[in-house]
Amino acid sequence: MSASGLTLVFDLDDTLYPERDYVRSGLAAAARAFGDAVPEVGEGPFLARAISLFGAGARGRIFDQALAEVGQPASAELVARLVEAYRDHEPTSLALFEDARAALARWGARGPLGLVTDGYLTVQRAKVRSLGIERLFGAVCYTDALGGRDAWKPSPRGFVDVMSRLGRPASRYVYVADNPNKDFQAPRALGWRTVRVRREGGEHACVEAPDANAAPDVEVASLDALDAVLFP
Ligand SMILES: [Mg+2]
Repeated sequence: MSASGLTLVFDLDDTLYPERDYVRSGLAAAARAFGDAVPEVGEGPFLARAISLFGAGARGRIFDQALAEVGQPASAELVARLVEAYRDHEPTSLALFEDARAALARWGARGPLGLVTDGYLTVQRAKVRSLGIERLFGAVCYTDALGGRDAWKPSPRGFVDVMSRLGRPASRYVYVADNPNKDFQAPRALGWRTVRVRREGGEHACVEAPDANAAPDVEVASLDALDAVLFP
């Protein structure tokens, strides 16, 4: 138990490290696969288009769009090959936000921490491996391992799993995350406290909670402010 009586549980993407760094690394892996499949065009032009599309806000169908822009038909086979290269690659350049590194050290010294993260299991595991953070947590929950997409947030399953592993009363948990579209509804319903980190320029910085049940209790611009909002 932490001295403060609170147990902090963190989201991963864009809460502890910038997910865009993973995306750029994955696009480079996909571009290498593209270069192998279509050597007459090569990986360079594909990567340039994909990075540009991502920078312009494209999400979800970047490969189809990049293929169109380099004049290649988006065959199901080629797209599947690119998706596989993206999801199976091992990122090598991920790093925690500085405020996240400090918060994990500060709060980890007070008691066990938790992690609840959504997304494909192989992808999320590779991110945790690359960041070298697994040892910092008493419980790491990959929601995908609990039942695929049905168990992703806003499902409560990941939060229930962490509670069963860390064994604290619901009111002692705090979930720290960045996306009000899916992060806060379930822990709030379970009786947890919730903190949103809204960093300037963050992926979800402009997203507002769809309703009061999805809104965090408190918002910070940096995890450096966690202690101030949790010990007001
Ligand atoms: Mg996130």
